[in-house]
Amino acid sequence: MATSSKAIVQTGPRKLEAREFPLPEIGAEDGLLRIEVCGICGSDYEQYEGGIGIASPVIPGHEPLGIIEEIDPQTAARWGVAAGDRVAVEILIPCRSCDLCLAGQYMQCKSRPGSHGGYNPPERGLGLYGGFAEYMHLHPNSIVHPMRGDIPAEIAVMFNPLGAGVRWALQYGGVHLGSSVLVLGAGQRGLAAILASRYVGAGLIIATGLARDEKKLALAREFGADYTINVDEEDTVERVKELTGGDGADVVLDLTPMAHQPIRDAIEAARWGGTIVLAGLKGHKDITLQTDKLINKALTVKGAFSVDAAAYTDAIKLIESGKFPLEKMQTHKYGLDNVEHAIKLLAGEVPGEDGIHVAVMPGL
Ligand SMILES: [Zn+2]
Ligand SMILES: [Zn+2]
Repeated sequence: MATSSKAIVQTGPRKLEAREFPLPEIGAEDGLLRIEVCGICGSDYEQYEGGIGIASPVIPGHEPLGIIEEIDPQTAARWGVAAGDRVAVEILIPCRSCDLCLAGQYMQCKSRPGSHGGYNPPERGLGLYGGFAEYMHLHPNSIVHPMRGDIPAEIAVMFNPLGAGVRWALQYGGVHLGSSVLVLGAGQRGLAAILASRYVGAGLIIATGLARDEKKLALAREFGADYTINVDEEDTVERVKELTGGDGADVVLDLTPMAHQPIRDAIEAARWGGTIVLAGLKGHKDITLQTDKLINKALTVKGAFSVDAAAYTDAIKLIESGKFPLEKMQTHKYGLDNVEHAIKLLAGEVPGEDGIHVAVMPGL
């Protein structure tokens, strides 16, 4: 067995370096994960830029999936897993005892002992807590979700974006059998929202993207979108009205980064009494809106924060169902030495290359 682990350490904005760490001794209540793969999302880019969690050096990578290499027997029993099992690991390590944790709102836990790939209190020190590494140290309060071992790792790791699709479309949006859904933005989470909506039997799914997103829109149609709109050439609101007999969509999800117009489009394209879910971050900018329209249309607007265990569990069922050709969303795989390139690629910083789901695999 290995005695050390390679890991990518972020030491400052846009500064990543490879280091070797001794493996932790596994004692009471903790465990060791051999990482198969770690997914990447927009937050990785923000973190890379210096936006979050790098007051002191940290091992980033917050969408890890791997095999339990070693585990304390009591923790194994508590989690319902054994050494050798594959698990998806949530980013958050909550306290599991504050009032929010007890109410199931652990994403906002008031006294987190740490996280996998995100913020860790300085007193925890620099350890193998993040997913851009060969091994990761599991905390007694880590949240793990067992997954079948026979699914290719780079597909299984989509528990993360798909969890967001489930949480944002189904839980926040309330999409159900027969719903009409408008998904603004066709990145990995837009596609995930389409999959989740299709999975529960949505009646009409419309997705939007830019002219340069044509490949993503084609995939959106393959994953269950009935219609796609190229917003560079068509008017989103007009087209949605046309497709819904003038009513608008029951549920509108905004997953576009930075753009303001999609929020105004969402208000226009939602049906009377409909729901708008906001999940695309806009860089802390003010947005001009006519709030009267929210009132006159009796709209419900929800901010979609994070993903919870119930959504991850449903996302895992969706992956294990084998009903969708998820491999078509998997566009790039890189080893640890290419983490920086992988992050830049997903953020669109690599000219001529466009990624949808980008995975980091220590084995490559
Ligand atoms: Zn992420
Ligand atoms: Zn808590």
